[in-house]
Amino acid sequence: MLVRLLYASRAVNTVNQEELVAILRKSKTNNPAMGVTGVLCFSEGIFLQALEGGRSAVNTLYNRIAVDPRHTQVELLCYDEISERRFAGWSMGQVNLGRLNPGLVLKYSEKSALDPFAVSGRASLALFDELMATASIVGQACRARLA
Ligand code: FAD
Repeated sequence: MLVRLLYASRAVNTVNQEELVAILRKSKTNNPAMGVTGVLCFSEGIFLQALEGGRSAVNTLYNRIAVDPRHTQVELLCYDEISERRFAGWSMGQVNLGRLNPGLVLKYSEKSALDPFAVSGRASLALFDELMATASIVGQACRARLA
């Protein structure tokens, strides 16, 4: 039973590169053991993260992330049962913000700034799809054993 979950949240304080790297490092350490894959985007104080994997693993991880004091206003955007993963290649991929051009964001939203709170979850997932298709998601390939 695989599920995909998408949420958005707002950083409590200014998140610098070092703090973002620490979150990604923790994700890459923990997620393979849980069989979780996904993508994290951070822009203008907003996190957008997709998690996919077994239902229990994803639910448990999401509940842990949701109470993390580094962010607030954690909003569930999408939760679906899926037959296959979209982000199987990443224990936690990172969107390369250099590739997040305003035109691409504008394709899926009213304004050119990334604001997942203002668009549907489907639109945010479509944006992730497009970023993946244009090789704009970086990060170590997944070494998880996804049985
Ligand atoms: P430890 O890292 O040992 O942490 C113990 C406790 O301290 C936890 O309650 C933790 O929340 C808290 N803590 C740790 N560092 C800090 C800090 N710098 N500031 C405040 N409190 C802190 N974790 C994953 O495993 N996978 C993910 O995909 C993932 N994505 C995340 C996305 C976002 C946007 C954020 C903010 C966090 C994410 N995390 C993720 C981290 C997650 O919220 C937990 O902190 C982490 O999973 C706890 O790991 P641990 O059990 O090894 O405990």
